[in-house]
This record gives sequence, C-alpha cells and structure tokens, in this order.
Amino acid sequence: MPSIRCSALACALLVAAPPSLAAGAEPVLPPSQAYQTRDSWRQPVPPFRIAERTWYIGTAGLSALLVKTEAGAVLIDGGMPQAADMLLRRMADLGVAPGELKLILHSHAHADHAGPLAAVQRATGARLLSNAESAVLLARGGSNDLHFGDGMLYPVPRVDRLLMDGEVVELGGMRFTVHFTPAHTPGSMSWTWEDNSTDETRTGQRGGKPLRIAYVDSVSAPGYELIENPRYPRIVDDYRRGFAAVRALPCDLLLTPHPDASGWAPADPAASHPSPMTCDAYAERAERALDAQIEKQREARR
Ligand SMILES: [Zn+2]
Repeated sequence: MPSIRCSALACALLVAAPPSLAAGAEPVLPPSQAYQTRDSWRQPVPPFRIAERTWYIGTAGLSALLVKTEAGAVLIDGGMPQAADMLLRRMADLGVAPGELKLILHSHAHADHAGPLAAVQRATGARLLSNAESAVLLARGGSNDLHFGDGMLYPVPRVDRLLMDGEVVELGGMRFTVHFTPAHTPGSMSWTWEDNSTDETRTGQRGGKPLRIAYVDSVSAPGYELIENPRYPRIVDDYRRGFAAVRALPCDLLLTPHPDASGWAPADPAASHPSPMTCDAYAERAERALDAQIEKQREARR
C-alpha cells in the first residue's frame, strides 16, 4: 500500500469503508477494460422481493428480474457482462438450480442489459427469447450500433425464438406479454405480467392483490442524433410510437432496466421504491426530454 501523509481525521476517512460496503456488502464488480461505466451499475445489492413470484436480483444501478414459476424460472435482463456469476449465485440463493432457469427475456440489446446473457445461457441451458430487430444486434455482440458504433461490445448469446409484438410467452402458469416499444433502440421490448402483491416486499404494498407489473424499456436518447440521422431517418417517429405503446400498458407497478429511471433505489434496503411512477409519467417525461433535445439540435443547425 502506498504511504499517504494525512491528518488523523483525513486518514480515518481514507481507511473507512465506503457506505455501500459498511454492512458487509459485496465489493463492486471489476470495471470493463473496454468502456467506462458507473460503479453503481456493477455494485451488487442483496436480492429483494417485488411480488409473490418476482424478485430483483440486479445491481444497485442495473435491473435483473427473476420470476419463479411452477415449471422453472424466468430471468429478465442481466446487466453488465461481469454480472453473470453474481446472477447465478442469486438464483441459487433463491432456490433456483441452474437447470431450473428455463427462459431468458430481455429489454434491449446493449451491453449494460444483455451483457451476461451468453454466460448465463451457457451455465443454465435456458432459452433466450428476443425479436428480429434485437436478435441481429445480439448476434453482433452489440457491434455497429446505430449510435455507439463498436463502443460497447459483449459476448454473443444464442437467440432461440423470435417474438412478434403482443405475443404471450407462458411458463408454469405465468404469462409474459411482449410489447414493442421502439425508442432507445429500434428493437426495444417491454414486458408485462400479472403477479400478486405480498406484505414481504419493500415496495410498501399490502399483500394478496393482483399486481400488473410492467418492465418497460429505456426511452432515453443519450447523445442520439435525432434530425436527419442518415442511419435512422425515422428515429423520431419510432420514439413517438414507443411512447404511445408505453402509455397503453397495463401498469400497476413500473420497473425499468435502469431502476432509478422509475423511482427505484435497489441499494437502499429500507426504501427500495421511494418514488413510484406510472407508465404514463415515464413516457411523458421522456417525450418532453426528447422534444427539448430535438429543439436544441434544430437550434444548433440554424
Ligand atoms: Zn441502452
């Protein structure tokens, strides 16, 4: 360890564990060599229950959901490539053996959500479901992305089935409906299913009521060129269609690939869902942000 000169107080602060490690939490997963991401995206947090059959097993800043059914489990999204072993440990902790993971569903084919799907698929034999638009991006491991080029690559998973908009996927009596919500990527998918609320959750709900869960994909446009984009001429039309689809979803409880985007705080065991949001509000906020981004890009061209 390098020697550091410091006052008694500063030294005490230097050696103190960061808050996330204070209660025996797991260390942050290693950064990627190829691209930088926030530590929170790689910070493991204890899994927690969202509804009777639905669990959060992601990190502080990236969602991964596990739904347990009578006929095996379903994983929805995985986070960064480095999260694969953590996801397998979480499943084991929740009583799901590798061979019991039957299906993998996902939101969009970027490295921060689809990163570990290949490794999880290899370890479990689960079938990965996607749509045509996302499957080709998954098959390229994220390369030649419309907006990011080759900036965020990840191991290539095998897509076992292509879904059409509105199709229902069934496992053990649970029914998952896919909704195409083109926005953040042209192949973006949102998922809805019905579960039951339980008193055990940290979401402040009372138990025993049917709960329509909506896992809605990202609707942001981080740095995207929205006007006369030669790679994606109808990008804004797609966003509008995506927003309309999001507004129409059955949505008692909204979850998103970036949990903070819908008011979740997975790292806080006392209040994991401090500011619940409706699907309508999620779409509304994103549409206002998109309009502002378009206006700014128009201004810059004048
Ligand atoms: Zn993304």
